[in-house]
Amino acid sequence: MPRYHSVLLLEKIRLALFEWPIARRLALVCGLLAFETTLYLLVSLYFWLTSNTDFINPAVLGFTVYVLAACSVFFLGACYLTTKLLNPTKSYLLIQSLVLGVYGLMLVAGDWVIGKGTTFGGVNYLGGAVVGIILLNRWVVYSVVGLSQILLYFLLYLSYQGLMPLAPLRASTMVQPNMYEWIVLSDALSLTKVWVLILMIDLMVSTLRREQVKVKHLSERDPLTGLLNRLSLRERLVQSVAAKYHMCILLIDVDYFKRINDTYGHPVGDQVLVSLADTLQKTLRPGDVCWRYGGEEFLVLLENLSHAEGIEVARRVRAQIRDTPIEADGQLINVRVSVGLASMDRKSIVSTGYTDGDLVRKLIKTADDMLYRSKTAGRDRVTAAVVDTQLEIDRVSIEA
Ligand code: GH3
Ligand code: MG
Ligand code: MG
Repeated sequence: MPRYHSVLLLEKIRLALFEWPIARRLALVCGLLAFETTLYLLVSLYFWLTSNTDFINPAVLGFTVYVLAACSVFFLGACYLTTKLLNPTKSYLLIQSLVLGVYGLMLVAGDWVIGKGTTFGGVNYLGGAVVGIILLNRWVVYSVVGLSQILLYFLLYLSYQGLMPLAPLRASTMVQPNMYEWIVLSDALSLTKVWVLILMIDLMVSTLRREQVKVKHLSERDPLTGLLNRLSLRERLVQSVAAKYHMCILLIDVDYFKRINDTYGHPVGDQVLVSLADTLQKTLRPGDVCWRYGGEEFLVLLENLSHAEGIEVARRVRAQIRDTPIEADGQLINVRVSVGLASMDRKSIVSTGYTDGDLVRKLIKTADDMLYRSKTAGRDRVTAAVVDTQLEIDRVSIEA
């Protein structure tokens, strides 16, 4: 395979491990379980049909084949149905428990009929738990692994008491009478190691996930104000344009900010910016998105608002900042802002020659031009325009 193909494959696996929503990962797990169960089924079927072994009990093998076939169908069905789960924010704990519960029962039954204490059983518990912890909810995995082992030991206890056969899949001549002690002892020893490994891998995976969330947060936030920085801006605006929302963007620039710095000092200027970001967020609706666009410039995205409603928000922001003197370093500082507003009704833009990226560029450019008009008209005002169906600037209004 050429190198770039393997890189692509690795990238896909990385996405599956860290970026996919739980519903997709659940579908992947169901697919893997269906694959694994079908392999067991084929092997059992082969032994059943050829009957060329004298160490296997054929009646139990036949029953095993039916159980494995049922499990295969179950996991295939679960794989199909889980691909229909679409809510990326839901964790589907019940479905996770059901799928892993059936798998746990299958492993316990397999371990019991084959005879406990095989390396094979240990590898299954360790491998299954690790894959489960990486892809699904760790508490569901711990519960299933824990309960499965309790159930397995209970079956073993019943066998020890003579109430159930031990390793029924093996022909009776293959089961040694003194097997129980040997099995329990060797199993208890290897289980400790299995659990230590599961916990270590769990710790590594959860640390990696936490670090990933932290890095993502740090990379997209402005450290001073805590607002989003420009990194996510274009992508988010393109999303909004593609969703065909009626959208407004506001470009807000502090008037004569240099004077504030010169008069009170840079640290006070910083405090003013933090306070402005706070006022902005309190004045906007929870769904509105606010970026620190530049030094003392902020950009706000308002989705699903008409042009007139957008102007209303811009007015409110400007008035709120104007009416809230900022207290910094024991002094009250009056701050004014100029605003440029550009709005666009994406549904009405029929032109096919423009990409979503073009529309976003046009929208930002228009807001910037409107901000410039606010500044040249005397500052402390709102200038608004509509980007019309031909991508021309229309309905410019200015108010102080
Ligand atoms: P105008 O009304 O034309 O916008 O005038 P202005 O003084 O606000 O504009 P100008 O662009 O000349 O000055 C912006 C100043 O903002 C210059 C820069 O030192 C300051 N600034 C940029 N980022 C920061 C920051 O993070 N903290 C502080 N304290 N000042 C900053
Ligand atoms: Mg500026
Ligand atoms: Mg300024």
